[in-house]
Amino acid sequence: MTYDKNNIFAKILRGEIPCKKIYESKYVLAFYDINPQKKIHALVIPKGEYIDLEHFNQNASDVEIIEFSKGISEVAKKLKISGNGYRVLSNIGIDGGQEVPHLHYHVFGGEKIGKMVS
Ligand code: AMP
Repeated sequence: MTYDKNNIFAKILRGEIPCKKIYESKYVLAFYDINPQKKIHALVIPKGEYIDLEHFNQNASDVEIIEFSKGISEVAKKLKISGNGYRVLSNIGIDGGQEVPHLHYHVFGGEKIGKMVS
């Protein structure tokens, strides 16, 4: 599978469509999900062209991997959900139910998140 440069998150990264930005670094962008499933629902994405976590882990540099992981904590800190806790989830491929083919972590918080998988 090749990376689709026209996916919605690629367009956000190129500034072609807007997002409600939460956090940005050299390697990571985080913004609010357009269709929140919980009180707080953020998305954390690497700036590099990676389809999913598998593609990322196979192709990203160590610094990209480290910064992506740290980006989640930065977002939790910014959203003030570190203390009470939160949930991180990444859908991968068809069985995972991934809709946007650019790696992203969902970050849910601000309330009890509830059942792990529905
Ligand atoms: P997934 O099913 O894991 O691929 O999740 C894709 C997520 O992207 C969904 O939760 C959508 O609501 C979200 N989404 C789609 N388009 C946008 C957008 N333009 N800005 C923010 N979030 C979006």
